[in-house]
Amino acid sequence: MERDEQVPSVIDPNTPSVARMYDYYLGGKDNFPSDREAAEKIIQLVPNITQIARDNRDFLIRVVRVLAEAGVRQFIDIGTGLPTRQNVHEVALEAAPDSRIVYVDNDPIVLVHARALLAETPQTIVVRADLRDTASILDDPEVRAHIDFTQPVAVLLFAILHFVPDHRQSAEIVKGLCAPLVSGSHLALSHSYAGDLTSEAIRTGRSVYRAATAGSITPRTTEQISVYFDGLEQLEPGVVPIDAWRPEWPDVQPDFDRPGLLGGVARIP
Ligand code: SAH
Repeated sequence: MERDEQVPSVIDPNTPSVARMYDYYLGGKDNFPSDREAAEKIIQLVPNITQIARDNRDFLIRVVRVLAEAGVRQFIDIGTGLPTRQNVHEVALEAAPDSRIVYVDNDPIVLVHARALLAETPQTIVVRADLRDTASILDDPEVRAHIDFTQPVAVLLFAILHFVPDHRQSAEIVKGLCAPLVSGSHLALSHSYAGDLTSEAIRTGRSVYRAATAGSITPRTTEQISVYFDGLEQLEPGVVPIDAWRPEWPDVQPDFDRPGLLGGVARIP
């Protein structure tokens, strides 16, 4: 895979890392000057990106709670990112202490931080693997020892699928991940969305991300993002801006003009 070469196996402070850029949007401290410089360029283009990143974490928390309430006890979180407030395992374990969580990321800095954070949590494991090689995740011996695929599993793809530029490939990845899951399993994702951004701003944003570890970012339309849920039972309210997915304050209206992230959750029948 050509992009594997782009993701170093050791931490490279000079190449912006999408995980560390995201950490910077969230106000975290685990980032280097190269990350901050790239992130600042994106902030110029999408000034509300820091709010979007926070909204995405809040969306993740609401989704994991909903899934826990639906009886899901196993979570595979692909594209974990750097630990921040309320990670998947904290939300899941609070809801149900017998939950099991697998974190998957291909950025070595994420692995270092996640392993340090999780050393004391036997319900959780961390695996270095690439989203684009679904078999490397599903057939990983550690994953298979930790997850019981005869029971429901939630696959979480928050703010990661947009790093796969080809739409058909991204849809095949989702299909491949859902294929071994039993009825009652779930798919939850968030995905970048251009809203009313100009094509020039999109081009500039993509070129900033092209220089980073995960490669270019590809915003998609509501229709394209809905394709990921084909054949599954979408939970209400469907694919919407993440802040409008079952908001804590019910007066949040979905604003499809605003650039940001769309999200959705579906049950595997
Ligand atoms: N899911 C978190 C973090 C999103 S940042 C959240 O939504 O809050 C995106 C993460 O995806 C980064 O940690 C990055 O390293 C990871 N990532 C990007 N491309 C990947 C790939 N092909 N395989 C595995 N992880 C990837």
